[in-house]
Amino acid sequence: MGVFYFLFYDVRRMSPDEFKNLKTLFKFVLDNAFSDFYREKYRLAGFSSFEATVSPEVFLKLPYLAKEELVAVPPEQRLYFSSEGFWQLASTSGTSRQKPAFFYIRPEYSSHPGIELLSGRGVKRAMFLNNPARFPNTYHHCERLGLTLIYGDPLNLRGAAYQAKVARIEGLITSPTLALDFAPHLKEMLNPSEIRLIKLSGELVTPLRFSSLRDNYPAAFIESSYGLLETGTLGFQCEVLAREGGLKHHFNPQNYYEITDEGELVVTHLKLNPRFGTPLIRYRTGDFVSLMEENCRCGRPEKLFILQGRGGGDLVKVGGGLIMADEVEKVIGHFPGVKDWLLHVWEVKADEKIKVRLFLEVTEDNVGLPSPQRIAEQFSKIFYVGGHTTLEEAVSRGLFLPLEVKIVSTIARPGFKAGHLESHL
Ligand SMILES: [Zn+2]
Repeated sequence: MGVFYFLFYDVRRMSPDEFKNLKTLFKFVLDNAFSDFYREKYRLAGFSSFEATVSPEVFLKLPYLAKEELVAVPPEQRLYFSSEGFWQLASTSGTSRQKPAFFYIRPEYSSHPGIELLSGRGVKRAMFLNNPARFPNTYHHCERLGLTLIYGDPLNLRGAAYQAKVARIEGLITSPTLALDFAPHLKEMLNPSEIRLIKLSGELVTPLRFSSLRDNYPAAFIESSYGLLETGTLGFQCEVLAREGGLKHHFNPQNYYEITDEGELVVTHLKLNPRFGTPLIRYRTGDFVSLMEENCRCGRPEKLFILQGRGGGDLVKVGGGLIMADEVEKVIGHFPGVKDWLLHVWEVKADEKIKVRLFLEVTEDNVGLPSPQRIAEQFSKIFYVGGHTTLEEAVSRGLFLPLEVKIVSTIARPGFKAGHLESHL
């Protein structure tokens, strides 16, 4: 981890109000009766009398919080509120093979920018096509806004398409992969132009995916927000950005942001939101962004950033699957002749579908290597691109193109990064 510096705004130049929010947050986590999570974390880091001395300088010395730390502790041991009144245990999407982090949610505090967008654009009936764990909360919010929301099962897209027809939906809340998979089923049931608004989250909406979504849902206004289940919305798109369809987002002003010199986004919840059982302080998102100097044409004051990739250098989330550097490394271990390697990840359009293309560059040790063809075959049999799906299976299902392997004399890595994954998304 490199040296952290502040691009978004400097904590030492925080306005009195912003700093007051930060102090309130610290007081809350250190004084509360329910959890020792931060008290223990900061005590171990030598901040035992922290509550009396909170200052911007102290903030800059605080240890970061990693997802692994949250996952390692049962939810009830990092819950900052009485568990009475919490009605939902939410889990991460499970795309990653890490143990999911769980968070309690109180529906009365729920806010969902996507739903506000749907109702704001006059959409009266929408379908939530996503992880069922998140549905009750979303439903509650819709009810307050007078929006009829039905649940569609992502594992039964044909059935969901039938429901969509019967309910005459006008909006869709889902992920980019599901929106694209859903389109052919929906077309059999209703005119895709009936869908006027699509609210996406969960994955990057790459330019290729955006244009494919455009083709499949010609009348839809497509907005993608960026966030994590444990952080809430970190970035949103205004009308200008949604029309452009790029990876630009406005920062959600409810949080405090830091960007590492490597580009990783670090977030602190500034507003105490009881929706989240555990407020996050200096939480490393694992996602990489770059800050834009210019302001948005929409005139909003929130700064703009571009999502560079989710999961940073160690993993690439693509096409509903996940490529993890340490998993690649394990498989590479089966080929003792490999000295160094770099795996490139692209999305390409092939056979009218968006597929993932993987290209593995390897350098050869003195031991010698099998032919590139042989490496590709063996690698594809034992490398998993999703929870239970090998690369070979993903290729046969038409999700990935066959792996390409090339033995090279040296590996040229762009920039200063010494990583093993190169995302071209
Ligand atoms: Zn804007």
